[in-house]
Amino acid sequence: MSRTAHAVLQNVFGHAAFRGEQAAIVEHVAEGNDALVLMPTGGGKSLCYQVPALLRDGCAIVISPLIALMQDQVEALRQLGVRAAYLNSTLEAAEAQAVEQQLRDGVLDLLYVAPERLLTGRFLSLLERARIALFAIDEAHCVSQWGHDFRPEYRELTILHERWPAVPRIALTATADPPTQREIAERLQLEDARRFVSSFDRPNIRYHVVQKDDARRQLLAFLQAHRGSAGIVYCMSRRKVEETAEWLVAHGVDALPYHAGLDARLRGTHQRRFLREDGVVMVATIAFGMGIDKPDVRFVAHTDLPKSIEGYYQETGRAGRDGEAADAWMCYGLGDLVLLRQMIEQSESGEERKRLEHRKLDQLVGYAETMACRRRVLLASFGERYRPAGASDSGDHDCGNCDNCLQPPESWDATVAAQKALSAVFRSGQRFGAAHVIDILRGADTEKVRQFGHERLSTYGVGAELDARAWRGVFRQLVAHGLLEVDAQGHGALRLTEASRAVLRGEQAVRLRKLPPARNGGGARATSAAAAVPAPDQPLFEALRAMRGRLAREQNVPAYVIFHDATLREIAAQRPKSLPALGGIGGIGAGKLERYGEAVLDVVFEHD
Ligand code: ADP
Ligand code: ZN
Repeated sequence: MSRTAHAVLQNVFGHAAFRGEQAAIVEHVAEGNDALVLMPTGGGKSLCYQVPALLRDGCAIVISPLIALMQDQVEALRQLGVRAAYLNSTLEAAEAQAVEQQLRDGVLDLLYVAPERLLTGRFLSLLERARIALFAIDEAHCVSQWGHDFRPEYRELTILHERWPAVPRIALTATADPPTQREIAERLQLEDARRFVSSFDRPNIRYHVVQKDDARRQLLAFLQAHRGSAGIVYCMSRRKVEETAEWLVAHGVDALPYHAGLDARLRGTHQRRFLREDGVVMVATIAFGMGIDKPDVRFVAHTDLPKSIEGYYQETGRAGRDGEAADAWMCYGLGDLVLLRQMIEQSESGEERKRLEHRKLDQLVGYAETMACRRRVLLASFGERYRPAGASDSGDHDCGNCDNCLQPPESWDATVAAQKALSAVFRSGQRFGAAHVIDILRGADTEKVRQFGHERLSTYGVGAELDARAWRGVFRQLVAHGLLEVDAQGHGALRLTEASRAVLRGEQAVRLRKLPPARNGGGARATSAAAAVPAPDQPLFEALRAMRGRLAREQNVPAYVIFHDATLREIAAQRPKSLPALGGIGGIGAGKLERYGEAVLDVVFEHD
């Protein structure tokens, strides 16, 4: 690695060392070569083009589809003393002209531009007259027609290569899926570019999956362990988003709703509050999140089952981009599975598409039900074998940072319980959902039981040894393992399958996962910003946070643009007493030192 790249990293960005593939990518692009970079969310893609932008002559053109977020990225760079600007439809004509003039005058290091703006004749001819350091194509998977982020303008970006063959291009994406990666290379004419594929592991994210019993209470308990932290709660429907947000607010959580049905202005306000304020919880459909690069999202909670592992991984990936501990928590039950199966069956899609969607859902259910290390299962679904950093052998490893690793699940011989469950389904006519069949097994005296005369069934009351919660776990797992199926065309009644027979005849044993005791929230840990700070440092840490909040409000920028939590934590621990000492803290480069050094030292001295 050239000394200069390292100097830029330290002096401008305040980081001590490159991470993973960053060094190799920076060198490759700085030398004028093309690159295709595949790195998970939070992996540190931005530096891969920002450092070469500063090392090469001219201005780097960064193409990004997310105009709402350009502003924050540019602001973060300006805070570092980098000459950055953006051009998109939110600018007034006069502002846009001023930026264009800066580009012509050669006083910009980086210019962010939306693809539709880039492709205008006016902008292309402006580029002809400018000196271009490199082209960075962010969110490169937008070129893929099969992805949900398809942007037709991305297809036309080959013009960059045709008109400026000597300017290096770097395309970046967090999409893990190999067919999409191939499509990117082909569509952007980057077949000859060197590919840099990083591991998709996100070691700081802890995965938990809990059985849904009382979803709202479980969510609230989970949120209580993360008080004061920013996070995202994903819900399946717009209505549920609104109800959940309202309910959380009534229970003292600073929650905001977000979905595509909300008025655009309100959506914008909510997104802004989430990005700029500390500790806001966004309750959202999956319409929210693409390009949200807030680094200090401490948790992502799924209150419903997502539709696929890709979706789940992308959504959970929004947590912990700053590399600090973060939680991915999911709460799911049989009801989710029934609902999603029905949604697939009742959709307009063709048979082939439906089969594909069922397969994707099965894969996700497999993940949710696994008794093995979740990280291994997740990475395996992207064709990657999990290896912890520094592992020397190539054997199988567990991650030690998922619920199954931390509290290895126990299994139990559920053969008899399964026989009772299957037999109750059969004898009641394969027409009912789990709730009613559980009432039969437990001998409940409900109106529905009496209405159908189910108290006369031989299976009535034979399952009193398990409570309703435990039975729900049994039914969910029987469906997940294919021993029962859901009538997805109808009302979600449970039916026997081919595989049920062997169990009923006593030819096949059934082992199921034992339900852990009902603990609220289920395995949540405290990952609030202050939780990682030792008690003696907390007053200083809180004072630094307050100062950061003030600075952020004065400049109308997000707090993390000024300092990350990790930086404040390090200051609180080291208590630097001089500017050079402060400059040695991670995340403090020359620009930040000059702007905020004195203010930080004042706070440190006050707490001495
Ligand atoms: P991505 O775009 O891949 O999701 P970012 O470029 O936003 O990731 O980086 C994620 C976070 O990691 C940012 O907060 C960034 O400051 C931090 N980061 C990136 N590279 C380094 C590094 N070499 N040292 C320390 N922090 C880094
Ligand atoms: Zn694990």
